[in-house]
Amino acid sequence: MTLLFKVDAERGQLWKALFAEHAPDIPVKLWPDIGDPADVRYLATWAPPENLAQTFPNLEVVFATSAGVDQFDLSQLPPKVRVVRMLDPGIAEGIIQYACFAVLAQHRQIPVYLTQQAERRWQAQPYRAAGQRRVGVMGLGNLGTPVAERLRGFGFALNGWSRSPRQIDGVACFAGPGQLPEFLAQTDILLCLLPLTDDTRGILDHQAFATLPRGASLINLGRGGHLVEADLLAALDSGHLEHAVLDVLNEEPAPAEHPLWNHPKVWLTPHVGAVTRPETAFDVLLANLRRLQASQPMEGEVRRQEGY
Ligand code: NAP
Repeated sequence: MTLLFKVDAERGQLWKALFAEHAPDIPVKLWPDIGDPADVRYLATWAPPENLAQTFPNLEVVFATSAGVDQFDLSQLPPKVRVVRMLDPGIAEGIIQYACFAVLAQHRQIPVYLTQQAERRWQAQPYRAAGQRRVGVMGLGNLGTPVAERLRGFGFALNGWSRSPRQIDGVACFAGPGQLPEFLAQTDILLCLLPLTDDTRGILDHQAFATLPRGASLINLGRGGHLVEADLLAALDSGHLEHAVLDVLNEEPAPAEHPLWNHPKVWLTPHVGAVTRPETAFDVLLANLRRLQASQPMEGEVRRQEGY
């Protein structure tokens, strides 16, 4: 009944120590010291090794150490293997902080003021009240919903978009591809918190940008694959979009020659919106293992057909 971690060495030691202290009945191994592969029932990792099924014939569950599972090729996993994503409350807190920072920065025109500072220009821009600023959250799941709820406290005019219809107090909710144009047309600050699936890949493209009102801005906290980077550059350079804050890119780390590195209308961060910390994620993982042992449903289990 071994739980194998394939994570970086430092975090691996932390996970191992937490299990030794709080759940010594669950044997833990740290990659590459896998012990007898036939004993491995659970694998916790961001990126599974090749030939997973052949290497670990008795594998039952892959626990992603991330909230998204797009980095897994689910079609390569045997149907019997269950996939569970990480619902670490520390991830939600990190994403909420980043989302509030980025939305408030756009709302208060901080990119404009930073440009003015570089030019030694002391000039107030017209002020818009939060209620006049329409913030649209794409993805109303474990992360998008608390983000919208936190942003509500600032008084923004909030819109949300998801696959199935949702109801959130103070948020005008839209659903499905049919309502995407209506949602986008009413959004000044677009915040992407979608999972990356076949349906959402490349969703932030020229068509989406053209549907946003002139002067809108983009915050991508989802995955690099949501964004067609060339279309964003064109929309920024034409002046249709005002600014973009990107935490994720198609290629990470971005190569030195990437045009977004020093684009005057882009802020880039190196995929740090939130990171899983064993200290906060441990309880979530252990609770799921206990549910599994009691044959109860686990939290965060991925619907493999839907890809999230
Ligand atoms: P989640 O709980 O699964 O929620 C996903 C939301 O997206 C749901 O509201 C879902 O609609 C909606 N959605 C999925 N496919 C859609 C489609 N085709 N059209 C419209 N809406 C769609 O996921 P989460 O935990 O909130 O995480 C979201 C993503 O955030 C992750 O997958 C990951 O990519 C990203 N993330 C980024 C960082 C970072 O550091 N930047 C950290 C953590 C997570 P329904 O409500 O109808 O299911």
